[in-house]
Amino acid sequence: MMLLKHKLRAFVAGAAMLAAIPAVAQQNTYKSDSTVIRKFYDDALTSYESYENLRYLTKNIGARLSGSPQAAAAVEWSRQVMEKMGLDRVYLQEVMVPHWVRGDKEVGRILSGRNGSQEVNILALGSSVGTGAQGLSAQVIEVQNFEELEKLGKKKVKGKIVFFNRPFDNKHVHTMAAYGGAVDQRGGGPVAAAKLGAVGVLVRSMANDIQDVAHTGNTRYADDVEKIPAAAISTRGADELSAMLKSDPELKFYMRMTCETRPDVLSYNVIGEIKGFEKPDEIIVVGGHLDSWDVGEGAHDDGTGCVQSIEVLRLLKEQGIRPKRTVRAVMFMNEENGLRGGRKYAEEAKAKNEKHVAAIESDAGGFTPRGFGFDANDEQFAKIMGWKDLLAPYGLHEMNRGGGGADIGPLKGQNNVVLIGLRPDSQRYFDYHHTEIDTFETVSRREMQLGSAGMAALVYLISEHGLNGGSAKAGK
Ligand SMILES: [Zn+2]
Repeated sequence: MMLLKHKLRAFVAGAAMLAAIPAVAQQNTYKSDSTVIRKFYDDALTSYESYENLRYLTKNIGARLSGSPQAAAAVEWSRQVMEKMGLDRVYLQEVMVPHWVRGDKEVGRILSGRNGSQEVNILALGSSVGTGAQGLSAQVIEVQNFEELEKLGKKKVKGKIVFFNRPFDNKHVHTMAAYGGAVDQRGGGPVAAAKLGAVGVLVRSMANDIQDVAHTGNTRYADDVEKIPAAAISTRGADELSAMLKSDPELKFYMRMTCETRPDVLSYNVIGEIKGFEKPDEIIVVGGHLDSWDVGEGAHDDGTGCVQSIEVLRLLKEQGIRPKRTVRAVMFMNEENGLRGGRKYAEEAKAKNEKHVAAIESDAGGFTPRGFGFDANDEQFAKIMGWKDLLAPYGLHEMNRGGGGADIGPLKGQNNVVLIGLRPDSQRYFDYHHTEIDTFETVSRREMQLGSAGMAALVYLISEHGLNGGSAKAGK
């Protein structure tokens, strides 16, 4: 039934293209494109399938850090979900991933001779070493940035816990910019501090607002620098610690973490595919990452990106659209603490000489989409801008250069591929990002579905019109 419908549509579309003169063809294309896009939105906004998929992934499987049994369950679950959709092909791509475990719930305590002791919420940073079962207690030295730390020098840092406390710059309207301005402390803190003889690191959580929850996230070590334990402290805890340091600079901080890195584990990217009927060798990827941090449920980061990507394939099938180019939904593994899945995918694409036309990633939360960011050349971007009027009625106004996503990043440079990031409203993302409160309940079905439909629309336009050559006004 479905197959016949596909063939008929392809035949009609092909015949119309041959018959029409170019200007009329463009008008016809605009009309048929806008009709298809409307159908995607009608379907997405009234369907609960994707939302129920998210419920299963977050509630039944839950947090799914690379190497965990839950990550393995998420692989098998997403494979089965796509198998049931009757796609042309569903397959797994092997990838070895790091296996870090958090261990016991962390303990963080301010110990002040003058002001008494106070518990604060901390979370070990991903990849961190533990403190040993006894924990670690030391004086604290607060800094805002690496320059300040350097100036203090070994004499003032040795034997202490370095407390990186530079907050988000809340004047940024796009919170990703605020994150970008602060996250160097989390990634580079432990190495910079250990070089000067520090015994531990505390990093102010990557969040806009004052909260009790701590935000985890990955950190890095260097082979030739001692690995010291590193934790994120809640923004409220950070403010309290900072205030107490002012009245008692001699206070100590006690931290206990039993996290550790175990041997790598075999895992998988999960891929579902609809073959293109006209240019099957040209591939459009739409994806998110299947792994999440081990706290919370990985709902906005990045359960929504995964179920939205699967939803793009469902919308194509449900609306009886056989794409001209091949469309793949990719659930990448290990974005959070290694990016091994994204690298593996690009490696295989290169080895097989696959031609990717575009890759779209949704990994900025399941919030109301505002547009897309594009990493494209001038000609490609001009062509995309020709589709602006088709997308604007759905609230997709921010169509800017510069974009992509961590998992699709390694594809950059392969055959002129255009890398695209879905840009949802960013105001609430860092309330939940990498925390125990990134849960299913915080996701709005409608907001998430607007993202699914927006991605389906863009996938469809790229599939129909391609991204290299052709008129900059195509689709207009
Ligand atoms: Zn993510």
